[in-house]
Amino acid sequence: MAAPRPTGAAPRAAAARVLDAVLHRGRSLKAELSTALPALPDARDRALAEAICFAALRGLARYDAALAAWLAKPLGRRDADLRALLIVGFAQLDPMRLPAHAAVAATVEAARALGRHHQAGLVNALLRRALRDGLPEGDARIAWPAWLRTRIEADWGEDADAVFVESAREPPLWLRVNPRQVTRDAYRARLAEAGIDAEIDDMLPDALRLPESIAVAALPGFADGAVSVQDAAAQRVADAFALTSGARVLDACAAPGGKTAHLLERDASLRMTALDVDARRLDRVRDTLARLQLGADAQLLAADAAAPDAWWDGAPFDAVLIDAPCSATGIVRRQPDVLLHRRESDLAALLALQARLLDALWPTLASGGVLVYTTCSVLAAENAAQVDAFLARTTDAHAEALPETFGRQAGAGRQRLPGERGHDGFFYARLRKR
Ligand code: SAM
Repeated sequence: MAAPRPTGAAPRAAAARVLDAVLHRGRSLKAELSTALPALPDARDRALAEAICFAALRGLARYDAALAAWLAKPLGRRDADLRALLIVGFAQLDPMRLPAHAAVAATVEAARALGRHHQAGLVNALLRRALRDGLPEGDARIAWPAWLRTRIEADWGEDADAVFVESAREPPLWLRVNPRQVTRDAYRARLAEAGIDAEIDDMLPDALRLPESIAVAALPGFADGAVSVQDAAAQRVADAFALTSGARVLDACAAPGGKTAHLLERDASLRMTALDVDARRLDRVRDTLARLQLGADAQLLAADAAAPDAWWDGAPFDAVLIDAPCSATGIVRRQPDVLLHRRESDLAALLALQARLLDALWPTLASGGVLVYTTCSVLAAENAAQVDAFLARTTDAHAEALPETFGRQAGAGRQRLPGERGHDGFFYARLRKR
């Protein structure tokens, strides 16, 4: 039986419903996609709807600028799904560059599928205008809430603009090859056989960079654990450690398990404890390790890392990783809805939690051991200032220099800003116990 054809209007209508919920009802993009996509029977429709949602949110400032310029009066609350659909339409034209005629026709059809028969003409007219006049360039800063914009401008000065611009771009897809199963060169050859081009980066021994996103299911050997998807900046975390064989390691905020798995791929003899406060997310660590055929002896604990009395057996760890919960301001290009949902009050709570994690986990580290503190944030308060404050109140801690390849110096650590070398925004600090 032939595969069903992508239906055209269905993925556009699905994308508009998802965006309506994310933009107007405070829902998370990931959660909405996880319920909307399975309802599309064709895998190509699912991939298209997902790609549209990401492109639409990344370009939101531009599309809203177009609507403000081209509509006689702003769309009201009742037209929330229409706004979402128009943004879906614009994203297909720029940056996705889908065949224009088909994209416009399918989006107009989606207007009808959403019960907006009477506005199908308006959708058609606005999308044709976008084709004729082009969409405005827009100001990437506008997508950021004022409180975050102010902080980033204060933290990064003339480089702040690059943070805003890069955060609106589509990131590359980075793979991490599992050296327990296949060498990077051999896996690259397997990709080439499957018609997929991949680049290597000398700084990242396990990584391959794909210029465009593809579905993980299309990656040869994914199900058997040959490869994982992980940004370059996250892959650098393993390089911040120099672990001896059999070392006792705590990954204190481990889910979904990317860094736990990477450390075990490099050295399966590590005695790993992977902990996360969220038991359901911890299940993903279990699934990841099973897929990679690793970590059969790893200890997985659902617990609050900031309360070690409840879970620590008192045997010190040789190394601790705190990949801390944070504002995620370094990965906006991958999670564009962060800009819609993050509140200033969240930041105060995150700062307090990060400080508690540092203070509570330091006593679990052996004398001479290393604690690596990382975040996917670009805010100095969560990074350089957080670590500097910890060092100031912790007499037996000192920072060890990380090489320049981790990014620019930021207090006692190093900061990678989003887009630099194709990486996500990330902070790294390496703290040694006397
Ligand atoms: N290291 C993970 C990886 O590479 O896949 C990503 C970790 S994510 C940045 C932060 C994690 O910290 C989340 O999974 C969250 O559930 C967890 N977390 C938040 N508060 C925690 C706490 N008090 N104790 C332990 N884990 C916590």
